[in-house]
Amino acid sequence: MERNELASLVRPNIRNLTPYSTARDEYRGALGIFLDANESPYDTGWNRYPDPHQQALKQRISAIKGVPEASIFAGNGSDEAIDLLFRVFCIPGRDNAIAITPSYGMYSVAAATNDIAMREVPLGADFSLPVEALLGAADADSKLLFLCSPNNPTGNAFRPEDILALAARFRGIVVLDEAYIDFSRVPSLLPELARRPNLVILQTLSKAWGLAGLRLGLAFADPYIIRLMSMVKYPYNINAATLKLALTALEDSPAARVEALLEERARLEKTLPAFACVRKVWPSEANFLLVEVDDADALYARLLADGIIVRNRSRVRGCAGCLRITVGLKEENDRLVQSIAAYEKSLVH
Ligand SMILES: *Cc1c(COP(=O)(O)O)cnc(C)c1O
Repeated sequence: MERNELASLVRPNIRNLTPYSTARDEYRGALGIFLDANESPYDTGWNRYPDPHQQALKQRISAIKGVPEASIFAGNGSDEAIDLLFRVFCIPGRDNAIAITPSYGMYSVAAATNDIAMREVPLGADFSLPVEALLGAADADSKLLFLCSPNNPTGNAFRPEDILALAARFRGIVVLDEAYIDFSRVPSLLPELARRPNLVILQTLSKAWGLAGLRLGLAFADPYIIRLMSMVKYPYNINAATLKLALTALEDSPAARVEALLEERARLEKTLPAFACVRKVWPSEANFLLVEVDDADALYARLLADGIIVRNRSRVRGCAGCLRITVGLKEENDRLVQSIAAYEKSLVH
């Protein structure tokens, strides 16, 4: 898709929108006597509105990711970016979106709240990407196509050439959710953005960066798409506390923690298949394992009784019998293994 085709995908009311101009839009300096925003002049630490453009944060993200600031959107979790993409591109009650299934539940929830029909296309039996079926599900009103790689809850990453083929052939926006990319051997597709105006890549500080409580999600895309998302967002969507804490946290690298989690993942990948109740541990490129067991409900209940909470995905399409288990600290994973061992012993007697 060419850049000049993007505008035709945008909802007409959004294309013609004049965004709210904040007091901080009109004067952007840091020094002065601020009598423009009806804030309190008393320094509580938080009496000033935050930067609606999050410039300092974007500078830091730009340096870390090698993506120009104009191609970066920061949101209240990835969920905000997902919702904004519907609001920017999809006409309620008319347009539709496409997503792989099983995948992250938020794509369908955001579609439903925006009154957009979601067309779910099943992954292959081995969780492979159904490229032709995804394209076959599209019509002239298909505006968004959601992919998640590495995928939640299956844990596998898709072949970059398949994702790029979809970006080349789909006549709308391909949204690639890379929430788990830091745990994957498959590289991020961020370097492809400059050549792919209809590709939006989502990342988050909630997983590898360990900042889920701060609520900071990122979208990377063509500057035109970033401008549209920024126009539609709440002006101060990232609060001052999150901005401040995130900037501090981003000074460190999460590499050592990611490395440790990958070692623990490898250990569980080896340990779990030894249990008779474990039928299959799916290969993972993420910080969790999808584990198929004889009786998912029974094992889930047993783990819960031992104070270990995992995600029961056994009623999700394609995931019959499966639990999704996040890789924890070594001691936590040891407890998991002990609990499964005790469960298995109780079955034999
Ligand atoms: C956890 C997760 C996210 C992160 O969501 P945030 O709102 O940024 O915390 C995004 N996508 C997928 C597929 C996830 O599993």
